[in-house]
Amino acid sequence: MTDRHLILAGCGHAHLDLLALLGRGFPAGWRVTLVTPQPAFHYSGMLPAIIAGAVSLDSADIPVARIAAAAGMHVHLASIASLDVAGRRVTLDDGHALAFDLLSLDVGSVAAATKIPGARLHAWPMRPFASALALMAQLDAVIAAHRPNDAVPVAVVGAGAAGVEIALALRARILRASLVPAVTLIDPMMGDGLPLPGAGSAFRARAARALASRAVRLRGVGVREVTGDGVVLDDPGSTLVPSVATAWVTGAASQPWLAASGLPCDARGFPLASAQLTLAPDASIFGAGDCVTLRDHPDTPKAGVHAVRMAPVLAANVHSVMQDGAPAARYQPQCSFLALLSTGDGAAVLRWKGIALESRWAQHLKSFIDERYLRRYRMLTPR
Ligand SMILES: Cc1cc2nc3c(=O)[nH]c(=O)nc-3n(C[C@H](O)[C@H](O)[C@H](O)COP(=O)(O)OP(=O)(O)OC[C@H]3O[C@@H](n4cnc5c(N)ncnc54)[C@H](O)[C@@H]3O)c2cc1C
Repeated sequence: MTDRHLILAGCGHAHLDLLALLGRGFPAGWRVTLVTPQPAFHYSGMLPAIIAGAVSLDSADIPVARIAAAAGMHVHLASIASLDVAGRRVTLDDGHALAFDLLSLDVGSVAAATKIPGARLHAWPMRPFASALALMAQLDAVIAAHRPNDAVPVAVVGAGAAGVEIALALRARILRASLVPAVTLIDPMMGDGLPLPGAGSAFRARAARALASRAVRLRGVGVREVTGDGVVLDDPGSTLVPSVATAWVTGAASQPWLAASGLPCDARGFPLASAQLTLAPDASIFGAGDCVTLRDHPDTPKAGVHAVRMAPVLAANVHSVMQDGAPAARYQPQCSFLALLSTGDGAAVLRWKGIALESRWAQHLKSFIDERYLRRYRMLTPR
């Protein structure tokens, strides 16, 4: 009898526990393939610290392809381009097709597509990671051409948690080069003048103070166009916000092949996951993290904290199905969790329940949590 085949699609936050579990051995009669476009996992929570220059680029990486290969998995460096649910087959962007008995999806989300003229050409989305690195390279090229104390204007579109952190991180990077940052954070949902639309009022007010005290300008209007000179606002005067490096941080979208697969999806094309993280009634397809919407909790934000908490549930259920058991573990999203936004200069804004404050120890706490998280999986790296 031929071995049954498990495919792990992508390896982000939500697959790390499954990788660790399978790293200790797979149930008999199974072979496992990891399909990933790049050999390392990049921890997005540390991207702002990388941009700020506080940590090195590789400090946010886990070499997932090496870990998988050392555990006896086959590693295929490619992206999934289509999924045939009925035929139990995925097609990859390198032309290969792989049949599966069991599929686990952790392919994350992509930057929401925008029709705003010039945005694709002159702004950098913060995912994939490579795009964020390209923004850094663009900024560094401009920085290198400036003299000390010159002003360097940058803009960030999208004032959610990631947008706030990226704005402060870009400011820190410019300051490190002894230049003068002129940072503008733009979001039409900031009509009330506060960042983090949708968050609690204390957190929003504290984040607004953190931005104001660092001279980050807030513009609560939409964007008409992005040009090589900056961002043209959708206001009566078509105001130009000058920017030499524009970050685009406007939320998460689904990969189109997921909606085309025939899996039941929400209106935005994210497959609907049960509490057990199954996407198909026969438990042959699982999914977790940003790439799914929880059927019973559709408003759960696309955030790393949920992907991290889904990870052990996904690992337990996939492993159970491999042993011919039922997926019994359930994911119940918590509505309240600790939020920490780095200010890029050694402090962080913390929100816990109704409390919001800014302090340096909050940044120490964030660094401790981030490093502890990465250490847990780095330990799996073969020597
Ligand atoms: C700048 C920034 C900062 C953030 N900071 C925080 C934070 O502090 N806290 C927080 O809770 N959330 C944060 N987030 C959100 C967080 O990054 C996501 O919610 C989290 O990455 C989701 O994890 P995941 O496992 O679903 O996917 P990811 O960790 O994104 O992993 C998905 C993986 O799938 C791979 N992949 C993509 N497409 C394919 C394909 N077609 N085939 C195969 N593989 C594929 C990718 O290469 C990637 O490795 C931040 C986001 C950004 C952009």
